[in-house]
Order: sequence, then structure tokens, then C-alpha cells
Amino acid sequence: MPIDPTEYPYDAPASEALLARARAVTPGGVNSPVRAFRAVGGTPRFTASARGPYLTDVDGREYVDLIGSWGPMILGHAHPAVLEAVREAATHGFSYGTPSENEVALAEAIVGRVGPVEQVRLVSSGTEATMSAIRLARGFTGRSKVVKFAGCYHGHVDSLLAAAGSGLATFALPDTQGVTGASAADTIVLPYNDVAALEAAFAEAGDQIACVITEAAAGNMGVVPPRPGFTEALRRITTAHGALLVSDEVMTGFRCSAAGWYGLEGPYDAGAPDLFTFGKVMGGGFPAAAFGGRADVMAMLAPEGPVYQAGTLSGNPVATAAGRATLEHCTPEVYQRLETVAATISAAASQALGEAGVPHVVQYAGSMFSVFFTEGDDVTEVHDYDGARAQRLPAFAAFFHSMLAQGVHLPPSAFEAWFVSAAHDDTAVERVLAALPRAARAAAAVEAVTA
Ligand code: PLP
Repeated sequence: MPIDPTEYPYDAPASEALLARARAVTPGGVNSPVRAFRAVGGTPRFTASARGPYLTDVDGREYVDLIGSWGPMILGHAHPAVLEAVREAATHGFSYGTPSENEVALAEAIVGRVGPVEQVRLVSSGTEATMSAIRLARGFTGRSKVVKFAGCYHGHVDSLLAAAGSGLATFALPDTQGVTGASAADTIVLPYNDVAALEAAFAEAGDQIACVITEAAAGNMGVVPPRPGFTEALRRITTAHGALLVSDEVMTGFRCSAAGWYGLEGPYDAGAPDLFTFGKVMGGGFPAAAFGGRADVMAMLAPEGPVYQAGTLSGNPVATAAGRATLEHCTPEVYQRLETVAATISAAASQALGEAGVPHVVQYAGSMFSVFFTEGDDVTEVHDYDGARAQRLPAFAAFFHSMLAQGVHLPPSAFEAWFVSAAHDDTAVERVLAALPRAARAAAAVEAVTA
């Protein structure tokens, strides 16, 4: 890959040894591809433990963590109250296969926070949540097509892995081998933030479209919030054609605010989304996710209705205890701290990159933010996937490795949000700020070489 990790004066022998062992028994040595560092090169760090804002790897090096398990760890790692809730729940058994009180309480916590959500069904991953929401939308409308936006990730659901295509309505080709043309054929991929493209797609196939699914604010192509009026337009157009609107808040839910992105941008004049999907924060680091929304739509789900959906571990008592405790501790002070930390780190990153002469754009969705290593200083906004892809990836890789060498673990890809937590205290923030100028100079050095 773009940089030579040997340029950086540190090694990770214990991680390297574990990676070699892992590769023998697991493809690429990891259980989710981004963890393999393929986008930045070098050896992924195997974590031995995590506490507060820090990860400690198996070589004993400590990093300020800006991955946060890709979103769930809003309170920081091993938060005492969550730990206690997990311990307490586990003493009563790990999984029942019968209903239990924690699932009711977690569902109540979600319904109580997100106004338009009248009912939820708990599942174990964001992927399950979006997959089930799409099935439900198809069952409710009796239609087959689904509109998604390029650059939005909704988990590895076959029909939603299609992100190909640019320009106007593109009937998608599968983005990965193993997804049949048939499962992608019912997916229409459009550019994010493009109302005209959506209108054109509905003009052509409106009576066949079951739903539009969108990331409430995109965080999987870097952070790309909806432009003002985009969500309203989604609602207006879907309503006009009898299609449902599914707002994927797996990443933004309970992070951007207590009511997620909806809490920041809604309520909408045109009405609320029909369905929402949640994950990450609501599981507190354990496998818990959910989809929910209008009661009349949710009534289509088995056992009340004809749309089947189920799960052996759905509503798991330990996971729901962690989720409950996490949501309970997401106080206004927590959201305030997230915003302060995000504003401080993103401003310092921008300043360091600016001083080093590295073109970049910082974008936000609440306290979620990311830095785009843009191709030139003339880019002031990234509003879709084509824009997000026009980045200098080698510069990011150099920046990433310099930060890692200085004890700050960024997400190992230029297309990811940087996640902060309420446990990022001033000491942790200072460590990030201290590392930024050198990392920016490392990025600038790559620019100079490749320019
Ligand atoms: N939807 C969004 C917006 C996500 O960011 C993700 C994961 O990153 C998913 C769905 C899938 O969630 P999971 O990885 O829990 O299956």
C-alpha cells in the first residue's frame, strides 16, 4: 500500500505474531475487513484491553482511541456503570430464549427517546436491522424495489451492497462477488443529496418502489450530512408515491443527540420517516440493534402479521442490560462533552493540516466528524460519494501511521468517521493535539512526493 510502514520507528511484534496465527485460521486474519489495515498498510494492532478513552495493544502500547469500536463506545471503554449492569445481568444467566424484562426496558428507552418510533423489534446487528426493515417495507407495500444512495452503508445485506453507478438512476450491479444480479436488480442506487435524481427515479418506477433507505447523516463515506432540505424532500417524494422512508440511524442514533440525527434535524414539515434502524450505541458494545417506527407498519411483523423475522439471541439479557445502562448514562453533559471534544480535535486537525499545506475539508454531523484529504484547496464541501472518493489516500495513510506511532489510533481508512467519547478527558485530548502537527507534516511529505 501507499506508505512504507518501516519508515515509522516502531514495531509491534506481538501483534505481528498474532496476525500470523490469525491468518492461518481466519481470512486475512480479521473478522471484519477494515480491521486488517489494507487501506493504510502495516500491521493491525491487536487489542489486549480498553479503558476510558484508551486502547492497549498486546505489545503494551497505549493509544488514544478514536475508533470507539466504530461507534458504540460513546461513554468510553468499560464504563463502570455499564460494567456493573453487565455483571449483574450475567449473574442471572446469559440467554433465555424466553421474553425478559431488560428487552422491554430497552425498547421503552428507544421509544421514549425517538418521537416517531412507536414500536421496535430488537435484533443483534445493524445488518439484521436494515435487512429486516427492508423486508418489512416490501411486505407492507407489496412492492419490490428499494432506493439507496451511493456511499451509504447499511451493513452487508445482499441487496444493499450495491453502491455502484453514478449519474442519474442506475439499476445497480452487485458491488461484491457472491451477490446475485437478481438480488441487486431490485436496488436503485442514486447519488446522495441529489433530489433531482430521486424525482427522476420515482417518475420512472414510483409504483414499484417499496422504500427509500438513507443514512440519516452519512458516516460511511466519511461524514457527509444531508444538505438542508434533503431529508424533507425524501419524505415528500416517498409520501407522494406511497413508498416508505427508512432512516438508518445505526451510526447516528443516540450519538448525534439523545434522539439521534432526528433529534438534531427533525421534526420535519413533510413528516417523520416511517421506519428507523438502530445499533452501535444502543448495545453499549454488545450485540444489540433494532428497527422500529410506525405501529401500523410494525404490526405487519410476525407473530402479529405475515412478515417473518426472528433471532435466537435477539433481546439477549446481557446485551440489553449494557444498552439500557449506556442510554441511561447518555446525559446532556455527555452530549456536551462529545461536542467539545469533537470541536477541539477537528479544529486542531484542520489547523495542523492547513499549516502543513495539506488540502482538506472537515465535515460534521453533530459530534461525528471526519477529515477529507481533498485533491485541492478549491474543494470546500463533500456532498456525495464521488466527492468523498476524490481523496489523496496516500496522504491519509501517512497521517494515520504518524498518529499511530505517536499513540493515537484513528480509524484505518479515509472513509470513516472519527469517534470520540465522553471519557476523552483533557489529558487524552491533549495527546491527540500534540500528535497532529507531526502527522500533518508526514501527510505533506507524501503530497510533495506525489505532486
Ligand atoms: N448501518 C449503518 C449506517 C452502519 O454504519 C452500519 C455499520 O457500520 C450498519 C448499518 C451495519 O451494522 P452492523 O455492523 O452492526 O451489522
